[in-house]
Amino acid sequence: MSIQDKVAIVTGAASGIGKEIATVFFQNGAKIVIADLNLEAAQAAASELDPSGARAIAVAMDVTNEEQVDAGIAAAASKLGGIDILVSNAGIQIVAPVDAFDFGNWKKMLAIHLDGAFLTTRACLKLMYGQKRGGSVIYMGSVHSKEASVLKAPYVTAKHGLIGLCKTVAKEGAAHGVRANVICPGFVRTPLVEKQIPEQARELGITEDQVIKNVMLKETVDGEFTTVDDVAQTALFLASFPSNALTGQSIVVSHGWFMQ
Ligand code: NAD
Repeated sequence: MSIQDKVAIVTGAASGIGKEIATVFFQNGAKIVIADLNLEAAQAAASELDPSGARAIAVAMDVTNEEQVDAGIAAAASKLGGIDILVSNAGIQIVAPVDAFDFGNWKKMLAIHLDGAFLTTRACLKLMYGQKRGGSVIYMGSVHSKEASVLKAPYVTAKHGLIGLCKTVAKEGAAHGVRANVICPGFVRTPLVEKQIPEQARELGITEDQVIKNVMLKETVDGEFTTVDDVAQTALFLASFPSNALTGQSIVVSHGWFMQ
């Protein structure tokens, strides 16, 4: 099981979970494409990995923009020698109750999580099928791919939807040796979650400490946050798994918050 010299594109890899996946993949011998809306941060992350730019590059990409996704993935593939692994990870969070949810924010959430996953998958599958050396597609789901929480309607809807996309890609990709799986993390203390703590405290009328203890970590077996490394090690396992035996699955990494 190895990802040595495989080319991996990770979306949203300028920060948080995606950045750690890019780092762990790089340390395990992969060539890395850091695709992010924030080009400056993506460039900094890529040059932290490989200042020469030979084995880690940054690509400016809004995953909801068809032209940017197609052009960015084509350019990255021609620089690094194709694409073997896609980690569709870029995401945001917007919280509000359903009865007051702004339609524009609903559409923005579905676009980033679902259109982004579809567009990057389509561009990478075309390359993977043509290269005839298989591939691995990993979607960043969430415990919210399996469970609901108040205030998170579009996030829960989109994260559930990724499981459907994954299962379809697993069926279509099998003939080409392309596997697809979903990782479903519990709460990880990235900028995405730091932003939510005061927002949820305000919406629910409780303290920030209560949000952490009684909302985010209440159902875990040990009151602990999941870490970026927990998620990156799971991604490494999925990316390096050698056969179609492990495809169409969703793996929950959440300190027991959700048990299948
Ligand atoms: P983060 O905010 O640290 O990083 C997200 C990255 O995505 C940022 O670099 C941002 O610039 C980029 N991004 C945002 N919109 C984009 C777009 N349209 N196109 C390209 N890039 C874009 O967040 P994170 O916590 O690392 O989240 C990464 C993924 O993990 C998300 O899909 C999130 O839903 C999922 N997730 C996070 C947690 C958690 O607790 N942090 C738990 C489960 C799942």
